[in-house]
Amino acid sequence: MDIGTNVTGKMISALKRIGFDRVFDTNTGADFTIMEEANEFIERFTENENLPMITSCSPGWVKFIEMNYPELLPHLSSCKSPHQMLGSLLKTYYAKKEGIDPEKIYVVSIMPCIAKKFERQKSEMKNNGLYDVDNVITTRELAKMIKQANIDFINLPDETFDAPMGEATGGGAIFGTTGGVMEAALRTAQDTLTGKNLEKIEFEQVRGGEGIKRASLNIAGKDIKVVAASGLSNARKILEEIKSGKADYQFVEIMACPGGCVMGGGQPIKDSKTRSEVDIRKLRADALYSIDEKSVIRKSHENEVVKQIYKEYLEKPGSYRAEKLLHTTYKKREKYNI
Ligand code: SF4
Repeated sequence: MDIGTNVTGKMISALKRIGFDRVFDTNTGADFTIMEEANEFIERFTENENLPMITSCSPGWVKFIEMNYPELLPHLSSCKSPHQMLGSLLKTYYAKKEGIDPEKIYVVSIMPCIAKKFERQKSEMKNNGLYDVDNVITTRELAKMIKQANIDFINLPDETFDAPMGEATGGGAIFGTTGGVMEAALRTAQDTLTGKNLEKIEFEQVRGGEGIKRASLNIAGKDIKVVAASGLSNARKILEEIKSGKADYQFVEIMACPGGCVMGGGQPIKDSKTRSEVDIRKLRADALYSIDEKSVIRKSHENEVVKQIYKEYLEKPGSYRAEKLLHTTYKKREKYNI
């Protein structure tokens, strides 16, 4: 299949044939991350506290700052990453709603990322003694499992995610590319700050494959300076700017892998000929932007499932329950040689 082909429906089919009882959408988790992160940003921005706020959904990046710049940890958003939020809600809200003992739910995340294997085992990712996520399989490992199971992937029918965590917005879809988390958060932050459903949806300034993208934006009449960086050498440059007091950003997105999760360490590896002939990052990122463009709902706060779960269970972003289930803490980690 061509690079950038959307195989979501076939992946759901394959997972059901492998033996999973339910398949949910991590992008629904991403919509929750945006709800919490936009709320956190607005609070910090209004109170001028711990700015710039830096995104926290890339565990490779989070581990880097914990090991190398622990003094800057207060800048990190306290939001868990999308799959951790989803796992946490599955073992609480969903378990209660379906009458399932949370101990009998085994959550496996399919991720483009190797660092998520470390993230899910952190003691901070537990609730009521249970891990939010019980196992992480990379997309590359899943492809191998599909082959081992002799599943004829190309001819599989497209299936849909299970309810209720199966509905996601375009904002959730673009999380996987550099600049995507910031763009999705800005969509929600601008509507929340103005109290209006603004027409502006796309923030071109933070799109593209450059390692560092700086922009000055006017959001709800306020000037906000942002930067989206990917790759740890670029992360280091931004952190040094913050440390030296030279940075005047309010919002920073950092992803460990150059280009973001589309180029994550767990993704299928292409041969050197393909790598030299095509821009794999762009093809994969374009696929995500295309999903976003075709989505009926493109802003996380307009996701009906998300709205319903806040109404029924979480109350509102930043509530006591949301903080308990969807947020985390960080600590200085010792460097060690592997
Ligand atoms: S950028 Fe890389 S390390 Fe970070 S979440 Fe994505 S795949 Fe994982």
